[in-house]
Amino acid sequence: MNEFVRSVVEKRIRRAMAAVERNNMKAFYCERADQVPAFVRQLLPAGCSVSHGGSATLSECGVTDLLAQGGYRYLDRSKAAGPEELDKLYRDVFSADWYLTSSNAVTEEGELFNVDGNSNRVAAIAFGPAHVLVIVGCNKIVRDLAEAQSRLETLAAPANTARLNSRTPCAQTGRCENCHSPARICCNTLITRFQRDPDRVKVLFVGEPLGF
Ligand code: SF4
Repeated sequence: MNEFVRSVVEKRIRRAMAAVERNNMKAFYCERADQVPAFVRQLLPAGCSVSHGGSATLSECGVTDLLAQGGYRYLDRSKAAGPEELDKLYRDVFSADWYLTSSNAVTEEGELFNVDGNSNRVAAIAFGPAHVLVIVGCNKIVRDLAEAQSRLETLAAPANTARLNSRTPCAQTGRCENCHSPARICCNTLITRFQRDPDRVKVLFVGEPLGF
């Protein structure tokens, strides 16, 4: 990253971290994506139960590989034999010790912005697992909720539907068409603001782009 761009990104990360802390969530920082697995290993107790939402970020930085190596009771959605087992797993996740996810955006006002089609992910962020770790690359930081929504409609949703091979209009056009598709990826929006429990939600900012 160019040094002048880097200096802007660092200021953005510092503002977002301070705002997240003001919202009663814990903020952490890794300069590089390859440092994230070691951070997660040190944070999660061996043998704890853990699951995660679908996320390009978690696979790009090596966290899903870390969970698959053993050492945790991993509620692995990719191993579900069919829709019924997957549905049961989504419900079991509510009693997991840890839930890992990224965020569609994080505002400089300390809000986590997430949309979901099936909505198991936004539900688990809001309620259930004892601890939630949100891993966000520096590309996810936006100024406010309006910019978060714009980022969703012009990048995150079209890129994610393309990744998932979903038959949504945005996968074709590259921008939101406010669809009524059965594959809609943004049926529910969760905005995570001030938290009552200061120990539940932790946000790890990474000084490199991750996911989309
Ligand atoms: S409403 Fe439809 S077209 Fe718009 S972002 Fe969501 S899935 Fe894509």
